[in-house]
Amino acid sequence: MECIKCGKESEVGLFCVSCYVPKVKMPKKVFVEHCRGCNKYRFGGKWNIAGRREVERYLASRIKGEFKVALVDLYKKEATIVVDAKNGDVEYTMPFAVAVEETLCKECSKRRGSYYEGILQLRGNENKVEKIAREFKKLVLKKTFITNEEEMHGGYNIYVGSSRAMLEAIAKLGIKDYKLSRTLHTAKQGKRVYRITVSVRF
Ligand SMILES: [Zn+2]
Ligand SMILES: [Zn+2]
Repeated sequence: MECIKCGKESEVGLFCVSCYVPKVKMPKKVFVEHCRGCNKYRFGGKWNIAGRREVERYLASRIKGEFKVALVDLYKKEATIVVDAKNGDVEYTMPFAVAVEETLCKECSKRRGSYYEGILQLRGNENKVEKIAREFKKLVLKKTFITNEEEMHGGYNIYVGSSRAMLEAIAKLGIKDYKLSRTLHTAKQGKRVYRITVSVRF
């Protein structure tokens, strides 16, 4: 048989290996949280003890269609679809819509204690607050930890382990219009440690 598209030898149904496109239905974009503290993953609303492999296996199980095996790589955001062809297995790589957010699970944030040097208070436009909160957390978690997050009527408070990391993240986000206040936190060995609160209104 010849490939109905290009005329080469057909290996997968009516097509050759290059013309064939696997028939798969990918799940809707999946959001996964990863705890930097204990390495647990969360999806579907629960923190699972599951490691990365287990999460990937679960995500692969949600791909439907005609194939032999489906594999998912969480960080490459790719699925590998293995198809049974005439001369052996053929692999196809396709994008897999997944977002992994680096965060801390409740237990880990408790374990870090209630220590914080900075509070970011976001107020005003809800969409803007949500967007900035998300981007801020992503940036700040590269440098420090988040002790606590409070969602309250009309705003959001984020407690951050390092005030310097907080200010750097705010600068990176291009936020220039804010109120800053300092309170003395401790004075250990003659060194004053301040807690900094930054309030932004959108
Ligand atoms: Zn072909
Ligand atoms: Zn954790």
